[in-house]
Formats: sequence, C-alpha cells, structure tokens
Amino acid sequence: MNDAPLLETRNLTRRFGALRAVDDVSFSVAAGQVYGIAGPNGSGKSTLFNVITGIPFRPSSGEVLLSGQPIHRMRPHEISRAGVLRTFQKDAEFASLSAFENVYTSAVYCAGTSSATAGDAARQALDDVALPPSRRGKAASELSVFERKQLMIASAIASQPKVLLLDEPAAGLTKPEIAGLSALIRTVRGRGITIVLIEHVLALLLDVSEHLMVLNYGRVIASGTPAEVVRDPKVVEAYLGT
Ligand code: ADP
Ligand code: MG
Repeated sequence: MNDAPLLETRNLTRRFGALRAVDDVSFSVAAGQVYGIAGPNGSGKSTLFNVITGIPFRPSSGEVLLSGQPIHRMRPHEISRAGVLRTFQKDAEFASLSAFENVYTSAVYCAGTSSATAGDAARQALDDVALPPSRRGKAASELSVFERKQLMIASAIASQPKVLLLDEPAAGLTKPEIAGLSALIRTVRGRGITIVLIEHVLALLLDVSEHLMVLNYGRVIASGTPAEVVRDPKVVEAYLGT
C-alpha cells in the first residue's frame, strides 16, 4: 500500500437528475504535491470536493481512496478524521471567536491536540502564516480579507490533515495578495500537507501547482504539467468558449 497515491478517485460520478456534475473523474495525487484543478464556472470543481469529503453529499458512483483505502462509504466526520480536510468558497471560520481561538479550536477538534499543547500549536501555526500577534485577539469578522486567508491557512495547519482541499482561496484578493497566498500555500506544503487546489486564478495555479487537471462539463479534458495543459487547444477552447 505504500506505493499507492495519497488521494485517488476512480470513475467518480455525481448526478443531479439528468445532469452529471462530476462525470467519470479519475485522478491521483502523490503525497507532497500541490495538485491544481481548473475549469470554467459550473464545470464540477466544487462538486468534486463535495463528493470526496461527503459534505454535503456522496458520489453517485465511483471510488475515493486515501493511501489505497476506500473512503467513499465513510461518514463525513470519519473522512475528516482519516485526514481529508476542505475549505469552502465562502469563509467558514467562527466569526465571533478570535483568530487565536479559531486556530486553537482546529488544533483541539481536528488534530486532537491536547489542550495543554494546543496553545503552542495554535501560536506556531499563526507564526507560520505571519499573522501579527496584535491581530490574533481580534474576532475573525474584524480581520481583513487577506488576514482571513491567513487565518484559514493557520487553521488548516493546526488541523494537521494529510490532504487539504482548497476551493478558490484567491477569491477576493488583489494581485499582490495572491502572491502572498502562493507563499502561504508553499508554507502548508512545507508542513508536510498535500494540497489539492481549485482555483479560477490561473496565475496562482501556474505558480504553485506541480500538476494541473482541467474539468469542463464535469469531465477531465486535460491533465499534465501546468505548462502543457494551458497550451492544450481543448483547454483554450473551454475557457474562451466557441
Ligand atoms: P464549479 O465549482 O466548477 O463552478 P459546481 O461543482 O459548483 O461547479 O457545479 C457543477 C454543476 O452542478 C453546475 O451545473 C451546478 O448547477 C450543478 N450543481 C451543483 N450542486 C448541485 C446541487 N446540489 N443540486 C443540483 N445541481 C447542482
Ligand atoms: Mg465552485
């Protein structure tokens, strides 16, 4: 089993009535990779994360494997306990808790860190993302857009997942902030966490991904190195329309 990819899907499909939002998607992510996923709006990217994590629904058919073990029949909390963590397109922090309390909560409830050491783990994660100590006592709702991204990444680090699924983390960021987000994503990888990154902003995908897959109408239309994939005529057509 040691040779198995960290995360793999086989012929994964999710139907909504006649619509195949995710249609026969097979891909595999090696441990330590940043694996990028692109595709036009409505191409099934978020649905793919939904069915991998079981939140809020399971696949219609196909398999999801973590280190070679099937996880698609597990309940959502079992999947997260096995080490698969996702972020949502909308901010999902506890708005009224402070930044520190949010990260502390992730350390205790997601990583299972004892309350004696969770404070240290939270401080370390906040140091990793360089959120200034003066901001850590602020309610999450008071933080700037970029500071909330720092908080999201710190919470992810404190949760210690095996694989982190990021859904459009660059949404709402300026160009210089997107460069800052690239650095944060590299920091996460530096902590030994494998990343699957859905993103609209191609510049971010090209900057941080080792591998890029493109979806269109739920299907994989290209998969390879980012440089190859963005030159693929099928990808150009999907993005520009015909
Ligand atoms: P993306 O994240 O790539 O923009 P989504 O995965 O959100 O795309 O959506 C893919 C397709 O599946 C869209 O056509 C969307 O309308 C449809 N879809 C997503 N979730 C549901 C749902 N719960 N019920 C019905 N249709 C859905
Ligand atoms: Mg989406």
